[in-house]
Amino acid sequence: MPELPEVETVCRTIAPYVVGRRVLAVDVRERRLRRPIALDFAQRLAGRTVRGVARRAKYVLLDVGDGLRWVVHLGMSGRFCVGDPPADLPHVHVLVELEGGVRLYFRDPRRFGLMMLSADDADLGVLGVEPLGAEFTADLLWSLARRHRRAAVKSLLMDGRRIVGVGNIYANEALHHAGIRPGRRCGKVTRAELARLASAVRMVLERAIASRGSSLLDYRDADGNAGEFQRMLHVYERGGEPCRACAAPIRRQVICGRGTFYCPRCQR
Ligand SMILES: [Zn+2]
Repeated sequence: MPELPEVETVCRTIAPYVVGRRVLAVDVRERRLRRPIALDFAQRLAGRTVRGVARRAKYVLLDVGDGLRWVVHLGMSGRFCVGDPPADLPHVHVLVELEGGVRLYFRDPRRFGLMMLSADDADLGVLGVEPLGAEFTADLLWSLARRHRRAAVKSLLMDGRRIVGVGNIYANEALHHAGIRPGRRCGKVTRAELARLASAVRMVLERAIASRGSSLLDYRDADGNAGEFQRMLHVYERGGEPCRACAAPIRRQVICGRGTFYCPRCQR
């Protein structure tokens, strides 16, 4: 499933192609996504110029002027790619042509994705703080932990209404880097530990973005697994394997229904 680093990578990849270019044609082949694509979507988007590309949580937001944003969400299996789709590629739902011969396509086999024009943040739902933004600090994490003393620290990290975009992989990895057991109650985690955790979240996401950047170039051939970042994982999906720091076997437990991995020696 595309997570924050993949979505950020999509934004960075498409921006140089689309910013400053006018949309010439929009071909919607399949409207039935998580929310159906509006009947007038193509007509409203065509003729507009893309002024910028930004990410908010796991949304790609293309500023198309007049306060309007072209919103794309990749859902479970979506891809938003530059170029022409290979012939006979199934599940290509939207094709967009821009000035200068630039083409984009949206492909989504499971159709949990989303594509719409929106002028209203409410369309994006309740979204917490960006973990790579200036608001995400040790103090913020501390105040959230105070308010959710009984919650497992891992579930706080993954609560998108408080902090967006920290998926299961990154929550597990960040907690390992910070030396904190995922199941610890927020009320029992010290301020110093939360400060370490805030930096660990940033570092893990930034590393993932750095490595996915290269894997996206051969997107069409790839099966979706970002090879490079997989090799950098310390605990995620490594139950029973030796900790890369201390060689103790990594343990697995289930927290809030999600597979959770930690080192019993490095994490307290
Ligand atoms: Zn260890």
